[in-house]
Amino acid sequence: MKRSLPLLWRRINERYNLVGSICQTCNTPYFPSRKICPKCRRKGKLISQKMPNEGKIFTFTQVHAAPAGFEHETPYFMAIIQLKNDVKVLAQLVDSPVEKVKIGANAKMVFRKIYEDNHEGAIAYGYKFKIV
Ligand SMILES: [Zn+2]
Repeated sequence: MKRSLPLLWRRINERYNLVGSICQTCNTPYFPSRKICPKCRRKGKLISQKMPNEGKIFTFTQVHAAPAGFEHETPYFMAIIQLKNDVKVLAQLVDSPVEKVKIGANAKMVFRKIYEDNHEGAIAYGYKFKIV
């Protein structure tokens, strides 16, 4: 399936700036953004909202066997970050000493260069997180 350019640009904005959406009816934030709130269905009213840049490590894993294009970065950590609004985001951890990578550690979003295309396209690694 070929994606339209406007959609691609919108996704890039989401990926670079952690822009998701929030349901104004029930106040639930979503990232990636949604068009329909699963709680409110037709009553939900969703608008764009920037997600907080900070959160805590909810869980993490160390990656030793990387996908093609990321071999030179192994081993590295992938973590699920629970943002301050409770939204969970999967991201790579960078610039974080191994001994500080723990569940509950504070993490902050950093903007990183995209190194490679993968099956999701060039936008898959726009943001990463580091332990603060
Ligand atoms: Zn809702």
